Amino acid sequence: MSSYKGHCHCGNTEWEAKLESDQQGHILCHCDTCKSLSGSTFTLNQIIPKAALSITKGEADLGKVMGPDKIVLRTGLLTEGIKNFKPAAEIFGKAKLPWEKEVAQTFETLPPS
Ligand SMILES: [Zn+2]
Repeated sequence: MSSYKGHCHCGNTEWEAKLESDQQGHILCHCDTCKSLSGSTFTLNQIIPKAALSITKGEADLGKVMGPDKIVLRTGLLTEGIKNFKPAAEIFGKAKLPWEKEVAQTFETLPPS
């Protein structure tokens, strides 16, 4: 397990995430919400237990993004790891733009749990 720091664009919120070795990769999400929020074709994420994420500055609404115990960590916002992490999977492949190439195992929606 390793710790990775991240922050939002404005810098008002900072966090630290503890990631197991099999979580040290990017999950590419192609869903329409991620397209709308990012203005791009996909976002870089990892789904982790809420307990693995600590807010170290500011406040963040951890909400119910992935149920009561899990949260989507935006690995694209980590200050470390973003360059070293490899694509681990692609989710919501059904919303992928037709010209996007597959870079990791792709699931139509979420992987089976
Ligand atoms: Zn998404």
